[in-house]
Amino acid sequence: MVTEILGADSASVRRAAELLSQGQVVAIPTETVYGLAANALDEAAVKRIFEAKGRPSDNPLIVHIADKAQLYDLASEVPEIALKCAERFMPGPLTMILPKADCVPDVTSGGLDTVGIRMPSHPVAREIIKACGFALAAPSANLSGSPSPTSFRHVKDDMDGRVAAIVDGGDCSVGVESTVICFENGRIRILRPGFVCDEELSEIAETVIDKGVLEQLSADAVVRSPGMKYKHYAPKADVTVVEGDVKAFRDYVGKKMDTNTMLLVFSKDDCEGLDAGYVELGTTAEEQAQNLFTALRTLDEMGAQKVYARCPEKSGVGLAVYNRLIRAAGFKAVKA
Ligand code: AMP
Ligand code: MG
Repeated sequence: MVTEILGADSASVRRAAELLSQGQVVAIPTETVYGLAANALDEAAVKRIFEAKGRPSDNPLIVHIADKAQLYDLASEVPEIALKCAERFMPGPLTMILPKADCVPDVTSGGLDTVGIRMPSHPVAREIIKACGFALAAPSANLSGSPSPTSFRHVKDDMDGRVAAIVDGGDCSVGVESTVICFENGRIRILRPGFVCDEELSEIAETVIDKGVLEQLSADAVVRSPGMKYKHYAPKADVTVVEGDVKAFRDYVGKKMDTNTMLLVFSKDDCEGLDAGYVELGTTAEEQAQNLFTALRTLDEMGAQKVYARCPEKSGVGLAVYNRLIRAAGFKAVKA
């Protein structure tokens, strides 16, 4: 398949919507990561997303809307607490899991009786959804298992020849996938941490952080968020997360250096006295979120075989960075 490259102008938006209306798959920019979009209500179109990604079929897709009124088309029930979250965080990087309406096909919900709904804030994503007039199912636009794409080039590397078109919208500002939440007995359960953090959600209702956010779940575990059990975000290199302050990091890593061992650090100061290739993530959680997936791809391109990574904060936006990094490391962490 020849993949069309589209821009962010209005003719491109119309072309993207035309292809999507024909049941094709189009990669689109959002503020979190690039998404691989198709008509969420068209079973055949959604199947094409799974084929393009090589994604397991029990892993549900998030459905993207451009208007809050669409919540009522896709969900059979919208509780008061969900409305409060929508009021505060939509549009934005928050996905709400709600009981699904009959129009949402099983292939979209991964066979679950719920549907994940998000309203992106990215102007191009919003315009494309509006031009389509239907909601778009859109998982991250990477091959299943590899790091989510946060720039046009990442998408092209993974999806050229596999999808009808890629819309170039520049780099993603958030850089990690949306926060995924569900509701239970008036509480908010965080299934996947993201840029909308626990501290902010706590202002709406009591929150619970799901076990799968911080720990490895066994393959046969019954999970509320199927994506949490899959190997994810993984670079080719063998990654270890090193917990501890910068001095402990330097001491620990100094003893482990080998050829093709590289470092994933907050800033280059962390590498003082260490003779190794490194990639910087940034010192704030927001920068780290924005840079993480590019950093993982860069380490692969640099030929890293082993990577020692500094451990992000496990709170605020940092929790999202930690959650993705610990998966990239296959849950391998050491206390230095
Ligand atoms: P991605 O589209 O790659 O960002 O992944 C979406 C993730 O959202 C999935 O892996 C699930 O973990 C979660 N998700 C989407 N829909 C549902 C749902 N109906 N119930 C629970 N989790 C969901
Ligand atoms: Mg993904």
